[in-house]
Amino acid sequence: MSDNRKNLGDIPTEEFRRVGYEIINRIADYLENIEHFPVLSQNRPGDLKKALPQSAPKQGEDFSEILADVEKLIFPAVTHWNHPNFHGLFSTSASAVGIFADMFASAFDMKAMLWRTAPASTELEQVTLEWLRQMLNLPPDFSGIIYDTASVSSLHAIAMARQKAAPQIREEGMNAQPRLKIYCSEQAHSSIEKAVILLGLGRKSLVKIPTDDQFRIQTDELQKAIVQDRNQGFLPFCVVATIGTTSTASVDNVEEIARICGRENCFLHVDAAYAGSAAIIPELQHHFKGWEMADTIVINPHKWLFTPFDLSILYVKDMPLLKQTFSLVPEYLKTSEGDVSEEVVNQMDYGIQLGRRFRSLKLWFAMRYFGQEGMINRIRENCRLAKLFANWIEESPNFQLLAPVHFALVCFRAWREGLSQDELNSINEKIMDKINASGKAYISHTKLNGNLALRLSVGSLRTEERHLKKVWELLNHYLSEELQASA
Ligand SMILES: *Cc1c(COP(=O)(O)O)cnc(C)c1O
Repeated sequence: MSDNRKNLGDIPTEEFRRVGYEIINRIADYLENIEHFPVLSQNRPGDLKKALPQSAPKQGEDFSEILADVEKLIFPAVTHWNHPNFHGLFSTSASAVGIFADMFASAFDMKAMLWRTAPASTELEQVTLEWLRQMLNLPPDFSGIIYDTASVSSLHAIAMARQKAAPQIREEGMNAQPRLKIYCSEQAHSSIEKAVILLGLGRKSLVKIPTDDQFRIQTDELQKAIVQDRNQGFLPFCVVATIGTTSTASVDNVEEIARICGRENCFLHVDAAYAGSAAIIPELQHHFKGWEMADTIVINPHKWLFTPFDLSILYVKDMPLLKQTFSLVPEYLKTSEGDVSEEVVNQMDYGIQLGRRFRSLKLWFAMRYFGQEGMINRIRENCRLAKLFANWIEESPNFQLLAPVHFALVCFRAWREGLSQDELNSINEKIMDKINASGKAYISHTKLNGNLALRLSVGSLRTEERHLKKVWELLNHYLSEELQASA
């Protein structure tokens, strides 16, 4: 077999089959036994680098040696996002069918630039995003496009807003342009600010509006800021509203913001990267009131629709505007399909990338395998579990909620009468560090009005009530340990 490696060409088919079955078996074992892994990698920084050779091997190696190193070196360096007790940041999970789809996508290795270089990718994306649009109860004037992440989706949305407000920038750059202003809440995701940096608008053009006691943008402050900036000679051109902020999953009043945008002639981008998936749940519809008035909406199926990373969707009303913003066709990419059929979309015209990965396949697999009802049931169960956990917090004299629970994220802290903010922050930080170091669960934190808040997110296919009970026991155990230590 090692002789084959001296030949040219790829791995022989026989070996591909044998190794392929072996890998599928290994992944099945992994997913079956996921709970026995520590959630956070127990490696220290640098451990993996030190264990690897300084240069690539001169001669090829047998694949069994490579797999042995995956076992010995890679697995210990993995933080297990699929673990049912991964509750930090936003809890996500890869469905098995999503894993299968990524295998096909890699095997085809299509780059969707022109329709003719990837008809399956181009058309399946349109169909899948139309199916999802219906499930999300978005009106038919939205159509979607897939990017890798919400950060990149929002970058494209804000580029569209800039194109609409100041099309001359496409030719002239940022020199001698109107001084643009864009608005979001102080709870908006950092990707908005990064987009502003990258688009050359400058961080000073981003106005962060304060939020109310439920971490929602104060719409009267937004209105005031826009008027004030206009009076000072700026051009307000875009507002970013968030449905499901990253810290607390708070929900901006999109309906009111949309009215302001209409009045003030501003582009409205809605960041629903996390919570957007919950729009498929009938009883959660009220959180999405007004989002149909947005110009663009970003939703991440890789966060909460069981597709492996990465897959972010930008829903867009004015596709021709997106095309105006990015289309640039050099001679070697000119094709005739555009002339013969209206149907033809060349995806390279709708973003900064030329080639695109075949990402829609994993969403299509997941939608077909689970069905609309299966997806609704799974997200609804995540929300039910988060509410249940929130009830335990509310009923306990030792803990308190720090934000309303709208979806499947709980912000809370351990609390004791008579302790200062600093003391409470330090106790909560220690509890979190101990839980995370135990390997049994992973929770993360945020700061809310100076208070350290613990965040527990429920978003995995594999999380059950017993997993939350385990976290609840860990929290109570480490809290009493801390209180004893400080007594
Ligand atoms: C997670 C998140 C993002 C960033 O997502 P990426 O896909 O990792 O870029 C942006 N906005 C919100 C509200 C998020 O929750």
